[in-house]
Amino acid sequence: MTTEHATARINPWAVAQQQFDLAAEKLGLDAGMRAVLREPRREFTVHFPVHMDDGSVRVFTGYRVQHNLGRGPAKGGIRYHQDVSIDEVKALAMWMTWKCAVVGIPYGGGKGGVIVDPKQLSMRELEALTRRFFTEIEVLVGPEKDIPAPDVNTNAQVMAWMMDTYSMHAGYTVPGVVTGKPISLGGSEGRNEATARGTVYCIVEAARHLGIELKKAKVAVQGFGNAGSIAAQLIVAEGSTVVAVSDSTGGIHNPNGLDVNKVIAWKKEHGTVQGFPGATDIGNEQVLEVECEILIPAALENQITERNADKVKARLIAEAANGPTTPEADRILWKKSKFMIPDILCNAGGVTVSYFEWVQDLNRDHWSEEIVNAKLKEIMVKAFTSVLAIARREQCDMRTAAYLLAVERVADAMAMRGLYP
Ligand code: NAD
Repeated sequence: MTTEHATARINPWAVAQQQFDLAAEKLGLDAGMRAVLREPRREFTVHFPVHMDDGSVRVFTGYRVQHNLGRGPAKGGIRYHQDVSIDEVKALAMWMTWKCAVVGIPYGGGKGGVIVDPKQLSMRELEALTRRFFTEIEVLVGPEKDIPAPDVNTNAQVMAWMMDTYSMHAGYTVPGVVTGKPISLGGSEGRNEATARGTVYCIVEAARHLGIELKKAKVAVQGFGNAGSIAAQLIVAEGSTVVAVSDSTGGIHNPNGLDVNKVIAWKKEHGTVQGFPGATDIGNEQVLEVECEILIPAALENQITERNADKVKARLIAEAANGPTTPEADRILWKKSKFMIPDILCNAGGVTVSYFEWVQDLNRDHWSEEIVNAKLKEIMVKAFTSVLAIARREQCDMRTAAYLLAVERVADAMAMRGLYP
């Protein structure tokens, strides 16, 4: 069965609500608070037209969801993908709420998406789609209200178009409306690498805790985009060996190690990691099951499920992706003593440096990469240490521990604000 088929059967929103319910139960959250946090505050659907290069007009569907605004403005990426759905965006928005709370940055959770395969669009069509979508969601976004960022298939160029669109309507430049922008437009040093860097900071801490020697560790990475390919580079810099990687077209494997920089160059030239000289082509699911100490899922949701969880060989799983593991798979991995660094902790480096970018924009400031990385490390290590302490105290897995920390922080903020009116 292909990954796509497996993914289609599992609803990420049901997964997100199950994860929340578990934490709410453990925390003994009262019924009212539970009901509030269990649903998104705002769900916005837009259908918008775009002039295509062949002269036709095509109508696209997009979403922006704000799950919770208790701790600050909504924060979360915008995804362009053919499988985007309102339930996926709701789940991703809820995970953003918990993620911002885990690392203690003053944001609520939001997310957006457009149903489109951007690889089928020309640059002009992509720009037109981006500008019109951003115009449609402008009633919600703004530097004090909701600040989007890149996610799957969106990047610094797309953020530049969004920032320009908002600024044109405002009549002046508003850099703080999106993060993940090019450096020349108020982007932050280190933002491009931040998700992967945060993941690797967590892996270093987890490896120390588990007694895994990174210099001897073999690593497999699923997904070879912003999060995955940079995580592969950074883990190699720690002395580990990357033995398998994959993208949407499939995977490659070499038990003796892959030259990550050469794989990046190969993918750039051929549009796929497959066919890389010296490696064996494997299926995307097999990448999750190869012999290794560390597995980094960095693609999409629902990749490790009850079907394949017991085939995962890695001792340590670091979720650079959002929602790659289902609750059933979590239970199997926990029984097998696997150590999970959950998404809401593991990939929080991206939103943390997005927060730094927003702070720099609002203050018309620019920090060096050294300062950004040092501040990021401090936040990630502190969050990891706090979550590990809860996991030990409660004798629970790291995901549950991260949820206990996050949900309690959000519930506390909501309770202090009180129920309006
Ligand atoms: P990206 O578009 O840069 O890369 C996505 C990669 O996944 C591509 O290599 C693509 O080929 C691959 N992919 C797609 N479908 C796949 C499949 N079925 N099997 C294997 N590979 C597949 O996106 P990204 O920004 O790297 O995001 C990846 C994950 O990381 C997502 O879950 C995203 O939400 C999460 N994330 C990203 C950021 C960020 O700052 N970019 C922050 C936090 C979390």
